[in-house]
Amino acid sequence: MEITAQSVWSNCLAFIKDNIQPQAYKTWFEPIDAVKLSGNALSIQVPSKFFYEWLEEHYVKILKVSLTKELGADAKLVYVIKMENTYGNKQPFTEKIPSANRSALKSQDVDVPFNNKSPELRNPFIIPGIRNVKIESQLNPSYSFENFLEGDSNRLARNAGIAVANKPGGTSFNPLLIFGGVGLGKTHLAHAIGVDVKDKYPEKTVLYISAEKFTQQYIDSVKKNNRNDFIHFYQIIDVLIIDDVQFLSGKTGTQDVFFHIFNHLHQNGKQVILTSDKAPVDMQDIEQRLLSRFKWGLSAELQTPDFETRVSILRNKLYRDGVEMPEDIIEYVAKHIKTNVRELEGAIISLIAQSSFNKKEITINLAKDIVEKFVKNTKREVSIDYIQKVVSDYFQMDVNTLQSKTRKRHIVQARQLAMFFAKKYTKASLASIGSQIGQRDHATVLHACKTVDNLSSTDKQFRKYVEDLSKKLAL
Ligand code: ADP
Ligand code: MG
Repeated sequence: MEITAQSVWSNCLAFIKDNIQPQAYKTWFEPIDAVKLSGNALSIQVPSKFFYEWLEEHYVKILKVSLTKELGADAKLVYVIKMENTYGNKQPFTEKIPSANRSALKSQDVDVPFNNKSPELRNPFIIPGIRNVKIESQLNPSYSFENFLEGDSNRLARNAGIAVANKPGGTSFNPLLIFGGVGLGKTHLAHAIGVDVKDKYPEKTVLYISAEKFTQQYIDSVKKNNRNDFIHFYQIIDVLIIDDVQFLSGKTGTQDVFFHIFNHLHQNGKQVILTSDKAPVDMQDIEQRLLSRFKWGLSAELQTPDFETRVSILRNKLYRDGVEMPEDIIEYVAKHIKTNVRELEGAIISLIAQSSFNKKEITINLAKDIVEKFVKNTKREVSIDYIQKVVSDYFQMDVNTLQSKTRKRHIVQARQLAMFFAKKYTKASLASIGSQIGQRDHATVLHACKTVDNLSSTDKQFRKYVEDLSKKLAL
């Protein structure tokens, strides 16, 4: 039988297939085509530089063994890369997804001298732009562990974060999911892990990204027809931090792609860190299989800090800003702003600003004024009962009618509006809104929200209802 590139390669494949995991075989070897055999050099075509990198890093041994069996000790492997991928560049990951120049289909030959014993010397085939790729981590260095004050409310999460930063991918906290309410430090802590990893392991690729941006990139990649590059890009990250994953609710395409990226990273011992404003059990419209992955690692909650912690956070902030403030004022602020660290900081910042702009002394009275404003602006969350009352009044019906099972159109609409505003103005879950507005389920509420969105963009009269009610409910 004549020896061709294909025959040599298919023998290699048979050997490789027997020796590695089926999934890995499928992922990394099935997409390869043998394209040329000249003497003892076999050329194989791989889909991207990333692919080539991966093979070199993980499968070079088995490739070598299999090829030497076929072509003898002088066997050589030549990679032909199908597309020109540049993950490099200045702004590698803010907006754009690395784009593949498919139309050009530039081939690039990479010679791999198998005979080279020392791995350091294997480097002549560094492809400009890929091994030296620097992915901007998008981390904020001021969000460090040092600046993240420890207290009972965050001890578990903070220490888990430190453990992960010490051994990314090497602890059972993978993924690490940090969850908790607004302004309790999820973003800060997530950055701190990344910052610390970068510090300890400068060679590791760390990427922080919000779930919202991730979704946008994914949508763009689908539009531009380079979904695979998007996936590959994420698969080369060592520590992937995705902030506010609750944003993925209901976005099945993005969830799906994230699922694959997650699995890949996890299987390869890479670290995933997620944050969310809810515990996994309370997440709505997130696929079960994804939720179950979230539960593989550790879910650590950030709770509202106790008084002592609030005081230390304030002191630390003032110290860093080089500002002195009387102790009783710090305590006053810490005592009155309890549920949100961002507001706590906000109040102190206003206090400093007020006193320096107006040349006022920082007094307890000034603190009172400012705290009052903060508390007023944020505390008054409308209740679902209040919303139902306002909506019923507006349509001149009573609340019982609004909640009733009737299918009369104007009543259905009033009910849907109440649900819509409950979703908009409260933090209640869909399920809890449904149960408070006439014992409906979460799907009904979701449907109501969509209907209101649709109608208010197509129906003038309906839009007027929404505007009027928004004004009445405005805080
Ligand atoms: P979240 O992402 O949970 O909404 P952030 O991480 O944005 O909250 O935190 C809000 C603000 O509070 C940030 O400025 C952050 O630095 C600060 N903060 C939160 N927790 C702490 C803490 N334990 N120590 C110091 N600062 C904190
Ligand atoms: Mg945040």
